[in-house]
Amino acid sequence: MISVEEATHHIHAQLLAPRIEHIPLADCTGRFLGDDIAADRDLPPYPRVTMDGIALSVADFQAGQRTFVIQATQAAGMPPERLLPRQCVEVMTGAVLPHGATAVVRYEDIRINSDSHTATVVEDALVDGQNIHPQGTDAPRGALLIARGTRLSAIEVAVLASAGIASVPVFCSPRILIVGTGNEVVSVEATPEAWQVRQSNASALRAAIGAMGLAASQSHLPDDEAVMEDSLRAALATHDVLILSGGVSKGRFDFIPAVLKRLGVQEVFHQVAQKPGKPLWFGRSKTATVFGLPGNPVSTLVCFYRYIQPWLLAHMGASKHERFVTLAAEVLFKPALTYFLPVTISAVHTEWHATPSAGGGSGDFVNLLGKTGFIELPPTKTVFRKGEAYPFYAF
Ligand code: AMP
Ligand code: MG
Repeated sequence: MISVEEATHHIHAQLLAPRIEHIPLADCTGRFLGDDIAADRDLPPYPRVTMDGIALSVADFQAGQRTFVIQATQAAGMPPERLLPRQCVEVMTGAVLPHGATAVVRYEDIRINSDSHTATVVEDALVDGQNIHPQGTDAPRGALLIARGTRLSAIEVAVLASAGIASVPVFCSPRILIVGTGNEVVSVEATPEAWQVRQSNASALRAAIGAMGLAASQSHLPDDEAVMEDSLRAALATHDVLILSGGVSKGRFDFIPAVLKRLGVQEVFHQVAQKPGKPLWFGRSKTATVFGLPGNPVSTLVCFYRYIQPWLLAHMGASKHERFVTLAAEVLFKPALTYFLPVTISAVHTEWHATPSAGGGSGDFVNLLGKTGFIELPPTKTVFRKGEAYPFYAF
């Protein structure tokens, strides 16, 4: 049996070749950017008027002038006027600053005279640059705006749009198939017999993958070696990643490791010194990476978030950031296993505190409701004290 660290190392040694696709800007939210994006022009691209009012030269004002002839009106979307000596241009927010103007005075700080073609400044002081957003001050042309591997949200979409990226390079989702197993497991729509359960693992895995901006298909197999072999042979030929749930333990009907072996999937490891999720299986065929997760619902989810999510993120160029949280209560755990313990996180001053909740074991997924994630407690200790910090994985 290998350690959690060794298992992590083996999994991360098997990265798929990244593939990039271009998708419409409208569809890119939640995806991972496949290339660095630079500014194709200065941002803002011209000295931008930020208030409705008049543009003038502060030098004229400092020479004592207060009333200015309005030579023109400069709306947003018009090419710039050229300011005449001792005159002003009426300007609107978003307009380019007229050539020669050095400041914008808000309507609130001027009076438009009854002749309607002169304006009088009623402010005591003006400064150069006021109410002007200077060209290139947000980002100069050529500057890196968004780095490859960034997860795209509305903010990135705004910046991509302004940089003219109508077709966005993003990392392709690997072709992922989630396969539930078990004769006792029926579909969500079915009315189960008293000895059956509705499937929940495949749905949960698909939801977790969907939340990462990736896509997966979903299927189910009975505990029947021949059926499993035929179905998994086809699945291996058409997918990059197989995530199996159930059938990897020591039971008489846990056929997955043997079936995968017959199909030429090479076992990298089977069993990890951890709780929950000890029977975890991992292997590779020539073309596909296969995760065999223990079927207990908490084990399936913990193994996904601990191993598969970081592995998938590594393909998207997403930067790793390990998070640590502080234990809010003492935990005792005797076995020489890494212990993944569900917790609820709350903010206490500047720290994140983790309140543990052992709950009903690896089959009790209802206990996970309301939990923020789980912490990882190393096998080298048995007493984990309040105030100690441990790695945290979010659900
Ligand atoms: P296994 O790993 O196949 O021995 O399954 C362990 C436990 O998890 C059993 O109680 C199964 O009924 C349950 N289980 C297996 N697969 C699923 C699934 N897809 N959805 C919900 N529970 C499952
Ligand atoms: Mg089973």
